[in-house]
Amino acid sequence: MSVEISNITKVYGQQKALDNINISINKGEVVGFLGPNGAGKSTLMKIICCYIKPTSGTVDVCGYNIFDNPLEVKRHIGYLPENNPLYTDMYIVEYLNFISKIYHIRNQKKRIEEIIEITGLGPERKKVINQLSKGYRQRVGLAQALIHDPEVLILDEPTTGLDPNQLAEIRQLIKSIGADKTVVLSTHIMQEVEAICNRVIILNKGIVAANDRTEIIMSMQKNTSLEIELLKPCTNAPFDKFRHKHSLTIIDESDSSVKFLLKFNTDEDLRDKIFNYAIENKYTILSMNKPQTKLEDVFIDITR
Ligand code: ADP
Repeated sequence: MSVEISNITKVYGQQKALDNINISINKGEVVGFLGPNGAGKSTLMKIICCYIKPTSGTVDVCGYNIFDNPLEVKRHIGYLPENNPLYTDMYIVEYLNFISKIYHIRNQKKRIEEIIEITGLGPERKKVINQLSKGYRQRVGLAQALIHDPEVLILDEPTTGLDPNQLAEIRQLIKSIGADKTVVLSTHIMQEVEAICNRVIILNKGIVAANDRTEIIMSMQKNTSLEIELLKPCTNAPFDKFRHKHSLTIIDESDSSVKFLLKFNTDEDLRDKIFNYAIENKYTILSMNKPQTKLEDVFIDITR
């Protein structure tokens, strides 16, 4: 087990930010903490990394306890905090030198070259950090988190504020890093979890609202609609009756065709029935699709 979170509660003054959280994360998993603002994601990450203490409960990281062995926990964790705090007036290499001294890394020069290669910092390596784009700063943040080759990587909203190109690059980088590390990342972005994570943990108001493999969480949203495109019938009367009876959502309509969403109160697959109904009533179906379930829909359902 890489991370074992047991009965964690955190109270700030009067406010309970985390309420008896229990989560086990296996070696090699890439886990996404998903949740609205204030759900407790950052608080939980800070506790795992020994930055703050829980009010009660405990965490073990790679077999080391946060109270008994905080230094060993930190040795086994790479942490990229929210907003990526960096010493922006340092050169990239100067900064990585500074971080590798903190971790007492033996062959610093070699390791810094390796990490520059892994994080793709090469083209910008001569720059001062404050001259870098947000995407490259994020790479520096990842480099400092990885420099001591930790087993576990904790990334607090690693893609917030990136443009779409930078976002795709950083996601790809996290994915490749995740191939041989345990990664826990927090995000608001559903596609990110779908793209990178094997497991989703939805936190809401300090409790675990869902915790399962990404595909299982996604299947929790029953797909009860069909997107259908019809060639418009010569006479509109029967279709208008059908339209009103089933409260269709019209997606697109032209002189010759109409595309609409048909919702059902059942999770039965009704495509064959629709097909036969269309033939009987002389409708021509141009296309019929089941819209893909989005993690976003499940998230809204669970956190509402
Ligand atoms: P998230 O990362 O999911 O947005 P946080 O862990 O940052 O959530 O916050 C959880 C709750 O705890 C929020 O209501 C927040 O206002 C509160 N909180 C976080 N840090 C502190 C703090 N240092 N002092 C008081 N309240 C805090």
